[in-house]
Amino acid sequence: MINETGLIFLGPPGAGKGTQAKYLAEFLEIPHISTGDILREAIGAQTILGKQVQEYVDRGDLVPDRLILDLIEDRLDRQDAQKGWILDGFPRNVKQAKFLDELLAKLNQHYMVYVVNLEVPEEVLMKRLLETRRRKDDNRETISHRLQVHKQETEPVIEFYRQHHKLYSVDGNRSPAEVTQSLKEIITAA
Ligand code: ADP
Repeated sequence: MINETGLIFLGPPGAGKGTQAKYLAEFLEIPHISTGDILREAIGAQTILGKQVQEYVDRGDLVPDRLILDLIEDRLDRQDAQKGWILDGFPRNVKQAKFLDELLAKLNQHYMVYVVNLEVPEEVLMKRLLETRRRKDDNRETISHRLQVHKQETEPVIEFYRQHHKLYSVDGNRSPAEVTQSLKEIITAA
């Protein structure tokens, strides 16, 4: 790897962000930072943060920005993030996206940042999410709610990045290996 790489995965629940992020993090030897995983871990351990966020996560609502922003700042400031990172589940609204831009400047992380939007049709997402139900927040109602919240809060983030940064759209309605291939091409071509 020549430069430090930052990868931001956008895309609805069920698009495959987690799968791709995990794989590419290993490939690039940089940390995979999933805000969903961090929050679920905190809930499991019933930490102060976990108790504060549990009801939001169970409902499929975004947790308040003030809780997420501190968490991201601490995480990106850690030693292992100094050679790059993959963000999965953050930013999820425009305020978080703006915060991230400022944070990267503040932390002096002038990385090559790729913003990738994984595109998958809504009916495919619903099917995938119902088939692979693994989590407590995975029932039909919370899944549709999460998709709804994504439309309202996170789709504007795609526009934000389209205007302010280079945004890559990748067809996520293919096999994981094919999607990985496209992502690797993006990273190595630039
Ligand atoms: P999904 O698979 O639905 O995309 P995640 O695992 O990324 O879900 O996140 C699960 C839940 O954690 C979300 O529904 C939300 O409650 C909370 N969450 C995760 N990331 C964020 C964030 N950046 N801002 C606010 N809430 C978040």
